[in-house]
Amino acid sequence: MDRTLFLPIRIFLSALIFSALLAGYSLAASPEISAVRFGGDDNKTRFVLEIKGKSAFRTFSLANPNRIVIDLDEVNWNIGPGGAEGMGLIKNYRYGLYMPGTSRIVLDLKYPVKIANSFVIKGKAGNPDRMVFDFEKISQASFSSSISAPAVRAQAVNSTRTPASRPISNKKIIVLDPGHGGHDPGNLGGVKINGISEKNVTITAARNIKNILEASGRYKVILTRDRDIYVNLRDRPQVAHQNNADLFISIHADSFTQSSVRGATVYTLSENASDREAALLAARENKSDVIAGVNLGDETDMVQNILIDLVKQETMNLSNRFAGELDSELKKAVTMRKRSLRSAGFVVLKGIDVPSVLIEMGYLTNSTDAKLLMQKETHDKIGRAILNATDRYFAKNFAFN
Ligand SMILES: [Zn+2]
Repeated sequence: MDRTLFLPIRIFLSALIFSALLAGYSLAASPEISAVRFGGDDNKTRFVLEIKGKSAFRTFSLANPNRIVIDLDEVNWNIGPGGAEGMGLIKNYRYGLYMPGTSRIVLDLKYPVKIANSFVIKGKAGNPDRMVFDFEKISQASFSSSISAPAVRAQAVNSTRTPASRPISNKKIIVLDPGHGGHDPGNLGGVKINGISEKNVTITAARNIKNILEASGRYKVILTRDRDIYVNLRDRPQVAHQNNADLFISIHADSFTQSSVRGATVYTLSENASDREAALLAARENKSDVIAGVNLGDETDMVQNILIDLVKQETMNLSNRFAGELDSELKKAVTMRKRSLRSAGFVVLKGIDVPSVLIEMGYLTNSTDAKLLMQKETHDKIGRAILNATDRYFAKNFAFN
């Protein structure tokens, strides 16, 4: 590599539009990322994306932890289950749909870096183009100074409901929240077992559970995501709030260092975790936005504490009642952990006045669970358990009108 060819490209605003270079090329299908390559070492690392078709790109960096984010036009990913280990300066990478029209790849860094150079090599004879990023190790001070104000999204914390927007129907509204999605693959514990990431399990299960609940005729089910797309952790409960939902159920699958551990667990929100394992799980699940390249910085804890205060005691009580019904129904249907009802500080359960629970359906790191969690039969069992639990919960706590 000839260093004199390096252009001092600023990390921010390094947007390049290739369409201008490729005038006349028709934009038919979405471009496809067909391969990822690494080269170099812990001082200089080259990262290459092979792309069929064309896309603009934009890069920026985030600290705590150090990351480089590359935003592309919406692309199809043909490079595996959602993330993998990196090389050299890059610890690992994750990718997926950030929002309609924008795909994102996040590089978790081993050391602070600058983008020394970025360019595209046009593929010859019908071969894919190569999008090349050259990273060089720099000091943490230089890296930090290259970062502008953190991209904290203002979230309206509003616990008043809007009955006017409630549709005229006596069906109860249940919001199902398939965990993770897009460039947040969730846990990759099952990748070695069956090539499946958590985000794929949660969306498949949620669709099947929705069908079971709606077939009863008593419930309308809204999904927080109905495709492989990233949704901010704080936007997920807002879907329940905005739709005046009666219940919010977040759906996940866990991972564990011991592959023998299996079974489902039902979690509710609490300020203090019920046990150390639950606390660690909440910490992992709450990383979703960090992984996804949303920088909440030091404000996270403060915001979380304010949010937890806003959750009404009544909502907490109802959440616990529903969790109890769900736990006893699930026990009849699927294998559960020994202590199957736990609590911890999950961000996705905070800040709304809709009773909410989080289900870890099983362990992707356990080969039996990993197999079962991809089967419709298992989703149907979980769906029927949820249906029985919701029926009992509403019958006991509310009069149907
Ligand atoms: Zn999860």
